[in-house]
Amino acid sequence: MTRNHNTPSLPVLIIGAGLSGLTTACLLTNSGIPNIVFEASGPDRSQGFAISLREWGYEKLLSALGCLPLKSLMWGAAPDREIRGTGYIDQIMWDNATGEKLFVPDQDQAAEQKIARVNRNALRRWIADCAEEELDVRYGHRLKRVKGCLGDMTVEFENGTVYRGAMVVAADGVNSTVRSQILPNIIPETVPAILYHGEFELPRSDFDRLFRPLCGDSNILAGIGDGFNTPFAVCNMTKANVHMDWSYSRPVSSSGDKDPLYRPNLSAEEAKQLPVELLEELASRKLAEPWSLFLDREAIQDHRVFHWAVRCVFVTLEEMRRAAGQGVVFVGDSWHAMPIFGGEGGNHALVDGVELAAAVAAAGPRDLEKAIICYYDQAWKRSQDAVRRSKQRFYALHQPMAHWREIQEKRKNLIACRICTPSTVESYSS
Ligand SMILES: Cc1cc2nc3c(=O)[nH]c(=O)nc-3n(C[C@H](O)[C@H](O)[C@H](O)COP(=O)(O)OP(=O)(O)OC[C@H]3O[C@@H](n4cnc5c(N)ncnc54)[C@H](O)[C@@H]3O)c2cc1C
Repeated sequence: MTRNHNTPSLPVLIIGAGLSGLTTACLLTNSGIPNIVFEASGPDRSQGFAISLREWGYEKLLSALGCLPLKSLMWGAAPDREIRGTGYIDQIMWDNATGEKLFVPDQDQAAEQKIARVNRNALRRWIADCAEEELDVRYGHRLKRVKGCLGDMTVEFENGTVYRGAMVVAADGVNSTVRSQILPNIIPETVPAILYHGEFELPRSDFDRLFRPLCGDSNILAGIGDGFNTPFAVCNMTKANVHMDWSYSRPVSSSGDKDPLYRPNLSAEEAKQLPVELLEELASRKLAEPWSLFLDREAIQDHRVFHWAVRCVFVTLEEMRRAAGQGVVFVGDSWHAMPIFGGEGGNHALVDGVELAAAVAAAGPRDLEKAIICYYDQAWKRSQDAVRRSKQRFYALHQPMAHWREIQEKRKNLIACRICTPSTVESYSS
């Protein structure tokens, strides 16, 4: 680490140790800019699900870390790293009613769409390990209050501790406490969508027997149905076991109020419950194997199921500049949460961290105002466009089967294939 000669006496205070917070912390540290990360949860997190990184996302991170090769990231974070896998996904889409392939990308498409699959917790660890000095991450610090102005900020935590810093980086996710205090008028928009997520473990021998014949070395088995999606994904694989997850998603039925699965305002505890209506709906889908074996009334009882509310955060540049005046800059989901379909949120979280740290290092830590303006000049349009795109993609992906069949028919037509397949296949990477 080279000590920045303009180093401020007060550190940058980063709220949240997710992808955006840790990327910012790692790169500030590598530029010699003091910072502290505060994280509400404890150091031991669950083993976590996997996400898809796009070339434009991971390349930016690798380059900021000194042009590391992709294999370094894959060795550290791919879901199948322990069996020397490479985080590969085949981008094939399966009809989960018949168990047949619906779309297979041609070689050019597959080569164009460079996607790397990583376990989210392993990625957090890998980013932290890329810092040239150990990151100062203080767990068990849930933010209560933030106040001050750029250059002199104070943060207070529920555990009673208080810290001063030069600037606050809001990396505290979709339900950001910082945002709710600094910009209380920004309320996340709830997309009328149903999204259940389940995690389960199975022996490697079962995985090799039930999944391998379909997905080969791919870390995703992407299934679509008549107006709904059911992808399976590998979160982590060892020689003995495979930790997997599934998602079940669809738009809210047109009689929205009466849709028994549409419950956007559940508490975290309620969101873990398995509603009987979900079990009935899954049974009515008549899924082919292997979907039917796991999304089954009995099998699902052993899964860790969670109901995700699908939320978008839209902000104006004006609002971001106002927050900057109050000493706060946003990274990640806190200012651009987006539906997971299309798998962009994590990529933008990484790129935010890269761009913010670079702007602070370039402007010099004593000119934080300039750094923030420079950061938003790039990041605001990039990320807000992505929120809109991801929202539209949700609807594009949940089409009646007749529509998919039509596309399949047109598949020989290269143009139709290029328009429809990539965006669809992309979404399964989330
Ligand atoms: C099922 C699923 C699949 C996904 N798939 C993909 C994908 O394929 N590709 C992709 O790019 N993205 C994907 N995403 C989105 C991606 O995971 C997120 O966009 C990304 O992790 C956001 O990172 P973040 O650092 O902004 O926020 P978070 O990861 O939410 O981190 C915020 C951190 O702040 C902490 N925190 C919150 N409040 C406080 C407080 N008051 N005080 C202190 N700490 C606090 C939290 O504990 C958390 O650690 C997926 C998301 C989900 C849920």
